Amino acid sequence: MRITHLGSGSRGNATLISTGECNVLVDCGFSLRQTENRLAKADVEPRSIDSIVVTHHHRDHSGSALRASKSWEASLHCNLGTANRMGWRPIEECTTFGNLERIDFSSKMSMLAIPVPHDDSDNVAIIASDGSGNRAAIVTDLGEAPNDLMSHLSRCNHISIEANYDHSRLVGGPYPDSLKRRISGRGGHLSNTQTGEILGEVCHPDLQSLVLCHLSEKNNAPYLAESEVLLAIGDKFEGEVSISKQSGPEFSCWAGQSEPSRLATA
Ligand SMILES: [Zn+2]
Ligand SMILES: [Zn+2]
Repeated sequence: MRITHLGSGSRGNATLISTGECNVLVDCGFSLRQTENRLAKADVEPRSIDSIVVTHHHRDHSGSALRASKSWEASLHCNLGTANRMGWRPIEECTTFGNLERIDFSSKMSMLAIPVPHDDSDNVAIIASDGSGNRAAIVTDLGEAPNDLMSHLSRCNHISIEANYDHSRLVGGPYPDSLKRRISGRGGHLSNTQTGEILGEVCHPDLQSLVLCHLSEKNNAPYLAESEVLLAIGDKFEGEVSISKQSGPEFSCWAGQSEPSRLATA
């Protein structure tokens, strides 16, 4: 199972999960043209995307999902809360899933949606399975990790998780106090420290690859996120930590394999 972040951050998110015969895009937060350009860099034909899963209604995740689904004839999936917020008509335009309900895309690809607290949204984290024991998590936009999520993360061999902000950069940064409180609150985003703590708890010998994503360009820096996470997981993790930036895609990870591979065009 191949995991490729087409890009990640407050200006757009999209992650391609592929198992050879099935391609699913988790979030579609770039413009249609941008998404197609980024897919080309990953050597994937847009019309080969079978399905698009949208985690929540925020623009950086939902952006061109409906247009892309129509243009590529890909099925569109989200929960009812997100469908309502987006004005997407269930059945006609999208298929809705429930919390902790398994979504089957093919015999070798299924996903589970786990609700997470984030602003005024019905956001979900995604656990993708390839049916042969490989599991990959895509976790962004949450203020804290609920127990359900923690127990699933401890069975994944790939985890992509946000490390949104460095606490002291946020506190000393340019945002108004109300926004600082929202970002650092229960329904905001994860700090580098929180992400480190979560990974420290769920880390196990079969966890082979980690990607830190959705880094704030104002309140974080890749070296801060990476060093804080490495400090927290220390000797427990032997794989490689990669960072998905706003631009991309730059690399692919394979669940069950520790080394990511650079894309030729990156
Ligand atoms: Zn976001
Ligand atoms: Zn969001």
